[in-house]
Amino acid sequence: MTIVSGAGSAGIEQAAQRLAAGGLVALPTETVYGLAARADDDTAVAAIFAAKGRPADHPLIVHVRSRDEALGFAAGLNDAAERLIAAFWPGPVTVIVPRAPGRADAAAARLPTLALRCPAHPVARALLERCAQLGVPGLAAPSANRFGHVSPTTAQHVADELGDELLVLDGGACEHGIESAIVDCSGAAPALLRPGVVSRERLEQALGAALREPDERSPGAPGTLESHYAPRATLRLMSAAEVKSALQVLPASIQGLAVYSRSAPRRHPLVQVMPDDPRAVARELFAVLRAFDARGVKLIWVEQPPDTPEWEGVNDRLQRAAAH
Ligand code: AMP
Ligand code: MG
Repeated sequence: MTIVSGAGSAGIEQAAQRLAAGGLVALPTETVYGLAARADDDTAVAAIFAAKGRPADHPLIVHVRSRDEALGFAAGLNDAAERLIAAFWPGPVTVIVPRAPGRADAAAARLPTLALRCPAHPVARALLERCAQLGVPGLAAPSANRFGHVSPTTAQHVADELGDELLVLDGGACEHGIESAIVDCSGAAPALLRPGVVSRERLEQALGAALREPDERSPGAPGTLESHYAPRATLRLMSAAEVKSALQVLPASIQGLAVYSRSAPRRHPLVQVMPDDPRAVARELFAVLRAFDARGVKLIWVEQPPDTPEWEGVNDRLQRAAAH
């Protein structure tokens, strides 16, 4: 396994050369780590699907440096896409737009639409910049994990999960910790396909309109499958009261159980304290689930956060992680 620092130009150069030659590289973004290939090379992109065990009909997000680079992949940007790009790029918002014919076929799973995002992480940006100099027009990159599993938020998570030959650019722990919000801008009215750390309210403010719910006409997204982001242990979502009363009757020495809770007794040996701030929970959530798995825990009880807008992204991931 090769983890190289993304801080210096040597690591960026090695990664860019490998990508330009059609290879795969794992890279840090501000959301989660991605597994990247050049978006204009269908054979390179096919290797992403193989490494992840991802079904070929589940499209990937193409990462670009700018709106102008996005225009090279899109069959035009409508008002909704333009507004979101102006408000949130570079940043953790993905737009789905009509695809320019023949561009990024494999990344788009041959759908007539394409998901585009401009990452803010300095290592991702430096890599995209060097790739562009080498003639690479954008990078297709889903999260760098096996299909359906928890997304990686450190270089070590990627190293633990994906094969030995992979080059991993290390950019530290991800700032946001959950994946980008995905807004489908390919129809008449924009729909939120996946909530992220940018709240629905902020997206709607930028759009100047309400987001509609996805329907059958919205393109399917793996991040929107009922079961996704799942640890190996069984995850059960419980109310604060359920956690509290269950802990009262359990021996504290019980094996195979971990509890992630905001309100349970902080010194209880089974309990890992969940922060009160939703952004802090998003940042650590996947690392906490991975750490429980690494301990060999079989069951994880998670206290359900409040059903309020600022928790929407975290609640979405927890519900899917619990849907085995
Ligand atoms: P991941 O990075 O693994 O979370 O995967 C990227 C997400 O973007 C997945 O949920 C994809 O299905 C979604 N996505 C990418 N392209 C499209 C598209 N054309 N239509 C709908 N969803 C898409
Ligand atoms: Mg994923």
